[in-house]
Amino acid sequence: MTTPSLRAIDTSKPASADQQDAAADEGTPVSVKIRERIKAAQKRFHANDNIAEFIEPGELDKLLDEVQGKMSEVLSSLVIDTDSDHNTQDTARRVAKMYLNEIFRGRYHGAPAVTEFPNAERLNELMIVGPITVRSACSHHLCPIIGRVWIGVMPNEHSNLIGLSKYARLIDWIMSRPQIQEEAVTQVADILQSRMNPDGLAVVMEADHFCMHWRGVKDMDSKMINSVMRGSFLKDPNLRREFLSLVNHKKG
Ligand SMILES: [Zn+2]
Repeated sequence: MTTPSLRAIDTSKPASADQQDAAADEGTPVSVKIRERIKAAQKRFHANDNIAEFIEPGELDKLLDEVQGKMSEVLSSLVIDTDSDHNTQDTARRVAKMYLNEIFRGRYHGAPAVTEFPNAERLNELMIVGPITVRSACSHHLCPIIGRVWIGVMPNEHSNLIGLSKYARLIDWIMSRPQIQEEAVTQVADILQSRMNPDGLAVVMEADHFCMHWRGVKDMDSKMINSVMRGSFLKDPNLRREFLSLVNHKKG
């Protein structure tokens, strides 16, 4: 990429070629530019990955316009008359905004500010946080996933702690991406592990998948439950049992 200062001293290049470059750059969809940066960095960009570090200031607005344009084409291919149907006139824009700024916010925006503080009181008792409501969409159908999560933390004197409300903010950031539940619980465990570095960490998630309720088998009762156990929760069956019985008690 040519920097503005280099461009200024590059007299060998005719101005018209420069203008052509600029025009070509202008015509490149912003999603392509972002994807190229991710590929150059050899990073992954799966549905549940965060790509905020590859999006430059001002590009989210352009991405919104691009998604809106593509969404209009989807509506058009669905043979919906968005010109005459007042209900769908602004749907493309609404859906684009909903994806980028709300339900998939955790892909395009950076992590919420969370301050860790040292375990000054040297707490070493099992802590349980939850239920925390989780909202996501499945990667397979983009159908809603709504559920609850419980976190078990076994701190040690070297652990960091985070404020109670911060669990919800971090988890929401992970869940606000197209997810599959098995990977979501692992991502939740990973982020809490890295922030807190506890002796043990447990995550239990129970969720309704609307791709089961709304389509497919149309089963209203099925729920999916996943758990991840790490450190002392993995090694100590009594701790694991205590955590699971307290979670089941709270579930009622
Ligand atoms: Zn699905």
